[in-house]
Order: sequence, then structure tokens, then C-alpha cells
Amino acid sequence: MRKPIIAGNWKMYKKLSEASQFVEALKNKVPSAEKVDAVICAPSIFLTSLVEAAKGTDLAIGAQNMHFEVEGAYTGEVSPSQLSDIDVQYVVLGHSERREYFNETDEAVNKKAIAAFENGLTPIICCGETLEEREAGQTVAKVSSQITAAIKGLTPEQVATSVIAYEPIWAIGTGKTATAADANETCGEIRSAIAQAVNEEVAQAVRIQYGGSVKPANVVELLSMEQIDGALVGGASLDAESYLQLLEAG
Ligand code: 13P
Repeated sequence: MRKPIIAGNWKMYKKLSEASQFVEALKNKVPSAEKVDAVICAPSIFLTSLVEAAKGTDLAIGAQNMHFEVEGAYTGEVSPSQLSDIDVQYVVLGHSERREYFNETDEAVNKKAIAAFENGLTPIICCGETLEEREAGQTVAKVSSQITAAIKGLTPEQVATSVIAYEPIWAIGTGKTATAADANETCGEIRSAIAQAVNEEVAQAVRIQYGGSVKPANVVELLSMEQIDGALVGGASLDAESYLQLLEAG
């Protein structure tokens, strides 16, 4: 059985005081990591404080991006070894906002995925189609090629422990959720692409999240689907009560 993983992606929201209050409000309420993996992916400037604040709880902290080199003259960037040095456990890679606004390519996502494992981080690798691609019937081709490219060169064990996030771009921050059935079908197609690229055992082990307007009101139905193993949540992860409700559905 695949354990659910509910990850909040705070994007570029919150002040430090709000981030600290969030973790404070969650303390003693996070469900056991035996039941669900709870992750908050915060702006990098808050990571040190949040890792400290979450110590002794089952809340894991993740970054939203990183460079693929462990160090170097890359002004403004954060490296995988810097993240693991401060005990960050997860890193979101290839979010559609990074692909769209920061020109992140499949090749860069692949280098970052390899670097994540070399530095003891678990990547949450994102894929998803635009509305135009969906309407042109290109959803499966798009997400399959993004994921196949991202996992190139990873060992089967690494692929099995990666987290994949299927986020249709038209559903992000729009209030439009893919129907549970549609999301389930596409997550199943991603699993098939992984089976083809690696093998069936790895495909059955890898956890695939759905993301795009997930909220307490729709999370139970989404998570009840066979192929959906969790959620990557933007807006509804910003409020501690709402995030806790998402965790309880896990
Ligand atoms: P929303 O949950 O706000 O739609 O954002 C989804 C997302 O992009 C998470 O990474």
C-alpha cells in the first residue's frame, strides 16, 4: 500500500511570523507519519526556522526549488547540499510556475532530480498540461514526456521513492479541479509511463499526487481514487486549520 503524502506549497506567500504561527498551531495535531506524510514546502528564507519549529513533530519541511550544482558562482540560488545541511527533506521540482516564468526545462528538472538524491532529498516532481494541450488531446503525451525526462538516469530505487505531482495547469489557483475520475485516469497514465521507462514494480511503488484547487471539500474524493496517493496544495495549505483537514483526509 502506498502511504498518502499531503504537501503544502506556500509559493511566495507569508511573513516569517505567519509561518511560525502556522507550525505552532499545527504542533501536536499532525497525524502520525505512519499514517500520512505531512510536508510544507516554504519559501527558502523560512526553511531554517521551520525545520527548527517542526522538530519533534511529524511535519517535514520542503523547498520549492533548488539549483542542481552543490555549490558555485550562481548568485541568488540555493543548492541541494545547503538544503540537506539544514535538514530539509523534500524539494518541489519542475512546478509549472517555474517552467513558465523561470524557463525551467525538462533537462534542468532531470539534473535537479539527480542532485536531490545525491544530497539526500526527496524530489516532488511536477508535471501537467495546459488547457490548450488538454483540449487538443495531448494530456497523456505531455505528462508522460515530462516525467520520463525527469527520471532519466535515476536508479529504480530512486524512482520508486520519488514523489510525482500531477498538476493540470488550468486547475492551479483557478478553483477548477479536474474531476476525480479524470485526475485518476491521468495519474494512471503517468504510472504506465513509469512502468515503461523503469518497470512495473517501481510504477506500483511510486506515489503520485494530484494538485490544482485541492481543498478540504474535495480532498476526500480525490484521495479515494486508486491512482491518487496524495495532494500538492497551494491556496488551501496556507491556513493551518484547512491544512490539518487535508491531512486528516490522508
Ligand atoms: P492551488 O491549490 O492554489 O490551486 O495550487 C496548486 C499548486 O500549484 C500546488 O503546487
